[in-house]
Amino acid sequence: YQAKRTGRSVAAYAPDNDTADRARLVVGGMLPRAVAEKEFILQFQPIVDLASGEPISAEALARWQHPDKGMVDPRSFLGSIERSGLLTAFTDAVLDQALAGAARWRELGCRWPVAVNISPRSLLDRRLPALVTRRLDDHGLPGDALVLELTESHTVSQLDIVDKVLAELAELGCMIALDDFGTGYSSLSVLSRVPAKELKIDRSFVTQMENTPSAAAVVRSHLELGRHLDLLVVAEGVERDSQRRMLWDLGCTAGQGHLFAKPMPIEEVVALISADDGPVRLAEPLHDPAA
Ligand code: C2E
Ligand code: MG
Ligand code: MG
Ligand code: MG
Repeated sequence: YQAKRTGRSVAAYAPDNDTADRARLVVGGMLPRAVAEKEFILQFQPIVDLASGEPISAEALARWQHPDKGMVDPRSFLGSIERSGLLTAFTDAVLDQALAGAARWRELGCRWPVAVNISPRSLLDRRLPALVTRRLDDHGLPGDALVLELTESHTVSQLDIVDKVLAELAELGCMIALDDFGTGYSSLSVLSRVPAKELKIDRSFVTQMENTPSAAAVVRSHLELGRHLDLLVVAEGVERDSQRRMLWDLGCTAGQGHLFAKPMPIEEVVALISADDGPVRLAEPLHDPAA
């Protein structure tokens, strides 16, 4: 999607003041301290069964709780982390917090896996499977309690070491999801090399599918691909009930977005689960006339 790509590169090369400000903070040496002081926290956003409105998993999304700046978005610090030499420490901290969250909701009877975003560079790190194993053990969780969300990249499709790391992670029982699917260049070749169980339709397509035939066509083709390859397909950025219905009509079974819930701190997830006796419900069940 051209508009989105253009938007991104403009942001990268001509940062607005706010972005530049944050970049300076990072360059100014705040990052090591932030990692050391554990200023990174995770919020959790439920992924929901479109028909029932009940969560089936939750995605962990990183935030930087800056002492002066408040909550900083991941897009403004991830690049610096990747370049800083702190990526392994960051990824480890994210895995630790994410699995701690999953252990909390498991105790409360919810067997939702937690989905963690993995930077493409982490897949070049041979220690990643060992890191994952240790954190799963720390929290007493099986491999299938963890979903690893990967974005397409040349890294993912080209290097043998990546194949090896991914194979080891799959061996542990971790599930692999292809995130922001369709926004890169190598989608189809990635599918043949990565042992993926899930595909996430990028928000840009969901946002535009009701008004833009080409976006709707992309959504349809992703769903068809998912059916042929037996993948769970999750639609990102579901904000309106009309989108939920359209996705359901097209054969999509899972979604994530503000219609259901925004990312929230673990304590809010716990409160949500504890609020009622029955299952957690984030939207009324869809009435399916065919049923
Ligand atoms: P993503 O993995 O595609 O995550 C989805 C993004 O969409 C999140 O943005 C989420 O807050 C946002 N979102 C969800 N539902 C809606 C909606 O209905 N409307 C709108 N407008 N937005 C919605 P966020 O949290 O800012 O994260 C941005 C990206 O940063 C993520 O995109 C992911 O690629 C990356 N990221 C986040 N946390 C981590 C992390 O711990 N490690 C790594 N490597 N990357 C991360
Ligand atoms: Mg993601
Ligand atoms: Mg995504
Ligand atoms: Mg996305």
